[in-house]
Amino acid sequence: MARRKLVETVVDPDEPPPPEQMVTGVAKALSPLARRILAPNPGVFTGPGTNTYLVGIDEIVVIDPGPADDAHLDAIVGCGGDRIRWIAVTHTHLDHSPGVAGLKERTGAEVLAFSAKDGLKPDRKIGDGYSIEATEFRLTAIHTPGHASNHLCYLLEEERMLFSGDHIMQGSTVVIRPPDGDMATYLDSLAKVRKLRLRSIAPGHGTLITEPYDVIDWYIEHRLEREQKVLDALRNAGTAKIDELVPIVYADVDEERQKIARSSMHAHLLKLAAEGQVTGKTLTGKWSMA
Ligand SMILES: [Zn+2]
Repeated sequence: MARRKLVETVVDPDEPPPPEQMVTGVAKALSPLARRILAPNPGVFTGPGTNTYLVGIDEIVVIDPGPADDAHLDAIVGCGGDRIRWIAVTHTHLDHSPGVAGLKERTGAEVLAFSAKDGLKPDRKIGDGYSIEATEFRLTAIHTPGHASNHLCYLLEEERMLFSGDHIMQGSTVVIRPPDGDMATYLDSLAKVRKLRLRSIAPGHGTLITEPYDVIDWYIEHRLEREQKVLDALRNAGTAKIDELVPIVYADVDEERQKIARSSMHAHLLKLAAEGQVTGKTLTGKWSMA
């Protein structure tokens, strides 16, 4: 059954890291058109670190320069040189976009993003359906709000490879932190990319995903399961605060990740409130069944 494969592809936070050793500073070829360089910023939210992608050979788009780390930016330029024509960001969170300024300085490339935010000022604001037309390929932006309201994925049409930023990660689920993070739009955005004809997903964190639909389905299933657990826990409690529900709903998750899970729980409850199933508002306030 497909289920077994899913468990192998998307590992639990407590399980050992995936077998592929990711190394910083060295470009790894993923396909004829795509290369990846790992930034040196591993952590709870970033896994092995942020992935920077170089798409193209003669004309290059850099996707997500990552943090403002000189060694990392030098590695990108060492790999792409003056063929870097565009710098595209998936979203403006601080593990993805602060390297833009330094890379722009080194290359003069045009900076593309959905919006100016978190210190990033794009040369061009782009939205759903915008395509970068290079000599060898076409890269199309897909607006995928949920993790961040200004999140874009990029589809490399020739290879059907989706650069998913933090919309989909390898090895873990994505944190949805209200108010900019929104669970209902996140699920809509998962359904949106599920409709694309994909061969692989190159995530913002972790290794290349070669079974894209298994992972997208697991993401959706996992969120809906979690939502059901939230509803069950709240029904049992009658009225409860998020801090009281998290240990019940996220009993499978270690304590450090339970702290992070408060945001995702809040996002679930806000979605359920918008649907009229529960009442409540804030991260610290009381919630009850509608
Ligand atoms: Zn990230």
